[in-house]
Amino acid sequence: MMELVAHRLELVNPSMIMGLVKKARQLASSGRPIIDLGIGEPDFETPAYIKDAAIEAIRNNITKYTVVAGEPSLREAIAAKLKDENNLDYSVNEISVSSGAKQAIFNAMMASLSPGDEVIIPAPYWSSYPDIVAICQGVSVVVECSQAQNFLISAEQLEKAIGNKTKWLLLNSPSNPTGGVYQPCHLQELAQVLEKNPKVHILSDDIYEHLMFDGNEFTSILNVAPQLRDRTLVVNGASKAFAMTGWRLGYCAGPQRLIDNINAVQSHSTTHASSVSQAAATAALTGPKDFIPLRSKRFQQRRDAVIAGLAAAKGLTAIVPEGAFYVYPNCAGVIGKKTPDGRIIANDVDFCTWLLECHNISTVPGAAFGLSPHLRISTAASEKNLESACSQIVMACSELRL
Ligand code: PLP
Repeated sequence: MMELVAHRLELVNPSMIMGLVKKARQLASSGRPIIDLGIGEPDFETPAYIKDAAIEAIRNNITKYTVVAGEPSLREAIAAKLKDENNLDYSVNEISVSSGAKQAIFNAMMASLSPGDEVIIPAPYWSSYPDIVAICQGVSVVVECSQAQNFLISAEQLEKAIGNKTKWLLLNSPSNPTGGVYQPCHLQELAQVLEKNPKVHILSDDIYEHLMFDGNEFTSILNVAPQLRDRTLVVNGASKAFAMTGWRLGYCAGPQRLIDNINAVQSHSTTHASSVSQAAATAALTGPKDFIPLRSKRFQQRRDAVIAGLAAAKGLTAIVPEGAFYVYPNCAGVIGKKTPDGRIIANDVDFCTWLLECHNISTVPGAAFGLSPHLRISTAASEKNLESACSQIVMACSELRL
């Protein structure tokens, strides 16, 4: 019998993150004291007032189908949030609520890409971007952005990458996996290139906007270049700011014709985000938000602890992230070295595998994010675990020999 698989899946990579996460979980369940620094979700809990709103919604039978784009009250709360926090004006018809920011991005690509359309993705990138593009039969144009350039795409690189078939530029700030942040002047340079190329759309993935460090404020490309509004899709969600990853609640805001098409895709897939999660997100967006800067501060302290903790790690060099909850050290200095059990570390996958198997530390190799040799360390772990993980990594690096 022929295998039942669509051509569009041929270019989709099996998730390297999930592979290593699975291995780490297997080792942990066999009793090994694994410290998990591979995860991309806050270790904090969803605040009680949000949980209460969801329980209340269930009691009040908010358990039926809602409208495809999301309950008007939630979209009003999102419009108010975009105005108050981001100084962006959107009407409820220009907003679509989905089952996570991931689905918003998926819907947008599904709604706008024809086979062969190109999407510019600065690397390192969130690993779902190229796979979503591939499923939607687009072509990823990956632009490598080195540690020396803070992992951010330059205006020159952007200009070079744009071609006749370019449909989108995917921008993510603060970034997963690097914590890199585009400053207003940098966004202005990118906007100048985009202005010269009116066919290029911009997807601004702002999911980590509240996790900004050192007193810096988040800036959207639309704040510096409002003239790009007609071809920009702002993506955000409840997962990271409100520690609501499992609730699956994201949204996007953009020009109405694009939002209508996004809703058309959604109407034939999930129909809409869960009614209960929508009620929870409405409470989240309209409730007290004083815990957000406090949590952000904790992530900043953890970032500082990890940067300090890894300073003595031979072969690793890390730049200081400006946001999000990741550190992305370069590990070129360990490549080609030999472990005490005789393995040769040929690449970052080998390094992360060895850290997991022999030192009980779970991280994700840079290969999963399109820029090697690196590893992503998530700071969404307890201070105690981060401290002992850093000591383990320092020790591990000192065991390597030429
Ligand atoms: N965008 C980036 C950069 C992410 O890191 C993630 C999740 O890890 C998402 C989007 C998706 O978030 P959600 O849980 O809302 O689907």
